[in-house]
Amino acid sequence: MNCREFHNLHPAFLDQTLAVHDVVEMQLHLAVCVLCSRYDTAMRRGLLVLRNLPPLEPSADFLDRLNEKLLAAHDADARAEHFRGPGVGSFLATAASVVVIGFLAAIVFDVARPARDLRLPPVVAIRPRIAPTASPSGLNSAFVASASMGLPVWPAAMMAEQAQEHFAAEELGR
Ligand SMILES: [Zn+2]
Repeated sequence: MNCREFHNLHPAFLDQTLAVHDVVEMQLHLAVCVLCSRYDTAMRRGLLVLRNLPPLEPSADFLDRLNEKLLAAHDADARAEHFRGPGVGSFLATAASVVVIGFLAAIVFDVARPARDLRLPPVVAIRPRIAPTASPSGLNSAFVASASMGLPVWPAAMMAEQAQEHFAAEELGR
């Protein structure tokens, strides 16, 4: 038996409601443990004093006065409850818990997020070669034509994209 078990069983030990086996274990521990032995002595002395105190005799009107005070206290509590909003203490506790939750969430999400200094390998860009059909200035002849007619170049690009979709639709039989 260790000291914790001794302390847990001690009230029953004092009340003499333990099984015989446990009583023997308790007495063995008392014989070897100075601290628990002192504890046992102090508890037994305290109980002895308590049991030898003269009995208290309340005055004749004690019950009436007690009930009066209890009712008054109950009324005061009821009035206080009626007018009271959340106290400063509960407000501060709520605010603190919100802050703590936010802090924990920040920590959790910061851990879950991948490293911020992620670097991608460098990409080599090559300038596309211009078709050799060119005018002396080196520009594509189609571009020059559309520019000279006042048409912007980008609708042609869009039409090219749409043409692909159109052909795909034709292929699928839609
Ligand atoms: Zn002990």
